[in-house]
Amino acid sequence: MMEFSLPEVLRILSTEVAGYAVPIVDLIAVQTKDPYKVLVATILSARTKDETTAKAAAKLFKEAPDLAGLAGLSEERIAALIFPVGFYKNKAGFLARLPGVLASEFGNRIPDEVEPLTRLPGVGRKTANLVVAVAFKKPAICVDTHVHRIMNIWGYVQTKTPLETEMALREKLPPQYWLTINSTLVAFGQGTCKPVAPHCDRCVIARYCPRIGVRPRKVLRQAQHERNVQSVRQSSVRAEPVEGPFLRAHQKPTEDGMRKFVSWNVNGLRAVEKKGFVEILAGLDADLVALQEIKALPEQLPETIKNIPGYTAYWFSAQKKGCAGVATYSKEPPLSVIYGIDHHDHDYEGRVLTLEFSDFFFINAYFPNSQPGLVRMEYKLRFNNDLLAFAQTLAKQKSVVICGDFNVAHKEIDLTNPKQNEKNPGFAPEERAWMDQFLGAGFVDTFRMFNQEPGQYTWWSYRFNARARNIGWRIDYFCVDTKSAGRVKAAGILPEVQGSDHCPVSLDFA
Ligand code: SF4
Repeated sequence: MMEFSLPEVLRILSTEVAGYAVPIVDLIAVQTKDPYKVLVATILSARTKDETTAKAAAKLFKEAPDLAGLAGLSEERIAALIFPVGFYKNKAGFLARLPGVLASEFGNRIPDEVEPLTRLPGVGRKTANLVVAVAFKKPAICVDTHVHRIMNIWGYVQTKTPLETEMALREKLPPQYWLTINSTLVAFGQGTCKPVAPHCDRCVIARYCPRIGVRPRKVLRQAQHERNVQSVRQSSVRAEPVEGPFLRAHQKPTEDGMRKFVSWNVNGLRAVEKKGFVEILAGLDADLVALQEIKALPEQLPETIKNIPGYTAYWFSAQKKGCAGVATYSKEPPLSVIYGIDHHDHDYEGRVLTLEFSDFFFINAYFPNSQPGLVRMEYKLRFNNDLLAFAQTLAKQKSVVICGDFNVAHKEIDLTNPKQNEKNPGFAPEERAWMDQFLGAGFVDTFRMFNQEPGQYTWWSYRFNARARNIGWRIDYFCVDTKSAGRVKAAGILPEVQGSDHCPVSLDFA
């Protein structure tokens, strides 16, 4: 690897991203040179895909080409125009209040400094920096999640939050890069250095990048993939994935012993297979992948699912065809496998599968749904308590990681509409109280160790365009026993992974 040189890397990237899609806010700045439109587009773009922002901004600017036009629209009308951007109701409220605040505090001018901009409704530090840099071409460093992530991958900063990254870059980054760094790295982060499985195999700066904490995408050549599948069928020896020269260096677990785990309710493994499951699994590149609601017996599955190169799969299907069922793919052979929790009712439904490794147990669980009218609440609580007792017994021996679809949103922050769902399955008081009891009994919700933000969901109804509008629930978890919390290095949600009404959740465990 060549020594990392920021000027050289940014020189290469400026040419590279010239061929990528331009981030929407930059595009609007180039097209209009209008701070009002840049500000509004930036507010709309948060947690929203660029193409959705572009369509919503076009509709809104047709009726509100300037501040006076925006002042003439009701909040309801703005909401209708910007739908379906993420959090469109909140954003409609911010935009409806914007003309009033600008009139009373800023003489109808868009401020060109970060601090005053953050006093506007819906404008945080990131948005303010972006507006200052893009609309006014003044020195400001906008630190999007891509900038924070990639700067840490390069080792240019060692920071934990975007704000820390912004402050570190203010000290360190030469001023000539301040205006362009965000759009360059957002484009590069969306196109190549993706948050999940970056394309290191085709990255133009691969020779400079130390790839700190990165698990790159695996590249399987088709012919070799077929040979690997064949070899798995003919012998019980696990096939190693074949990778390019760079990727070979990353075949082993990371040097600090970090393992990556993923849990995903696939809502039917046969269905998700048709949506590219094998490719998704390769991209996730996890050491252990726990699936719930597989809805199939192994004999009903194609060989491409049963024998995935690099993994051994363990199955615990429901005895009733087409229901529930869990499966775990593992790169490392476990010491032992525990099918079920030695309880007929639960094991008949294929709900718990545990792999034992030298220093931890990995429990994959699919919790029952309490069902409309809460008719299965009594059964669900029985399952929950039996599982808790099982996990506590294992935790006396070594670390326990327990993951899966818990079928409950724990707190109000964990779903979009808590009030409307107070008595509904998944948010009923009994289910939430059990979650309190579970955490009180010595387990930790790892996602909330790192993230206290609302709007972080793992399940969305298929109806009402709920996923695009981020109207969802966080009901999938990675938990560990309290004593092992220090081994948790990161926990996340992967909403960009499609294929089910749930998205995967992840855990980095040392
Ligand atoms: S080599 Fe990989 S990690 Fe490094 S910048 Fe390129 S895509 Fe990102």
